[in-house]
Amino acid sequence: MDITALKAAVAADIDARCNDLAVVSRRLHAHPEVAFEERRSSALLVDFLSKNGFGVETGICGLPTAFRGTYGKGKPVIAFLAEYDALPKLGHACGHNLIAVASLAAALASRRAVDALGARVAIFGTPGEELYGGKAIMAAAGAFDGVDAAMIAHPGGGGRVLMNTLACETLKVQFKGVAAHAAGAPELGVNALEALIQSFNAINSLRQHIRSSERISGIITDGGEAANIIPAHAAAEFIVRAENDTLLDALKKRVMACFAGAAGATGAKLKYSWGERYATMISNVALAKLFHENMRSLGRAIDLGENTMLYFSTDVGNVSQLVPAIQPMVTIAPPGVMIHTPRFAKAAATSDALIAMLDAAKAMAMTAVDLLSNPETLKKVKEEFRRTIKGV
Ligand SMILES: [Zn+2]
Ligand SMILES: [Zn+2]
Repeated sequence: MDITALKAAVAADIDARCNDLAVVSRRLHAHPEVAFEERRSSALLVDFLSKNGFGVETGICGLPTAFRGTYGKGKPVIAFLAEYDALPKLGHACGHNLIAVASLAAALASRRAVDALGARVAIFGTPGEELYGGKAIMAAAGAFDGVDAAMIAHPGGGGRVLMNTLACETLKVQFKGVAAHAAGAPELGVNALEALIQSFNAINSLRQHIRSSERISGIITDGGEAANIIPAHAAAEFIVRAENDTLLDALKKRVMACFAGAAGATGAKLKYSWGERYATMISNVALAKLFHENMRSLGRAIDLGENTMLYFSTDVGNVSQLVPAIQPMVTIAPPGVMIHTPRFAKAAATSDALIAMLDAAKAMAMTAVDLLSNPETLKKVKEEFRRTIKGV
């Protein structure tokens, strides 16, 4: 088998399909759906896969908008991860429309590699990345068992293949107080909003004494009803981040002490619940090098980078703890245009962005060719995974 010709064939497959892929990307972008509500987006991708020879299971792991599509038989299994959730009010300001299309394109093109070399490709529809950690739930339910390597490409304002990201957990808190007339009888009230404000102030003080890599961010989602009523209810959402599980556990305790202190000071009752944990992302260097080389062969400049910490979190981290994984960041916006901003949402709809992400899709499919065509290559990737993640 001529590997160079096979790589050219998978790249040509994506070029030939480029108009259809552009339609999918535009549709996803034009109808943004937030975490776990991606019904149309998920259905659009499932339909495309089913019409192109993939066996697709929907609603896996108890998540209605999750899916798994597979093509081929046996081992190894090379997986692509698709995300398609948008951000509240900002739409596709994280460019997940492009992630979906890149993984879709890579999966479809990889059929040629499977036809020539055997084995299997899979595409996982992984919902709710922004808010609920869909991959964390899927990982815990065993969705990625049996996968040999996983790839996903994320659009960004700068490009690099290797990175680590912070572990994080989301926190929902509420304080319950007692309503009272704010002027007529404030002494009868217990002010839930004051409890929340004291919590924010305590956390602001805490920030001086935590590691520079740790992050605590929050918003008030309920601050009361009217200025003439002492708020009987107040609520907030936070995200707490640290470099690893041990540090995150310790930081969570210190954050909760801030809320408990505010409850004690004000007399308001505290209730809280933690969400799914997003694990630290550890990129597989051997896999990253293959992707990097394939991107360069397409004439697309991208830094290999190194496994240093980027200060955000992704549920791809949960996959990277189970399976050798990479999440290259591909430049689609000018430097300084950051994800989660209205400018980035605009950039995610441009044809330049799509072309860049389709190059990433080609490089992912070409990397699948590398892995399927040479057992030694996959062995190296898996050996590194065992050494760095499992410590054996
Ligand atoms: Zn995001
Ligand atoms: Zn994202």
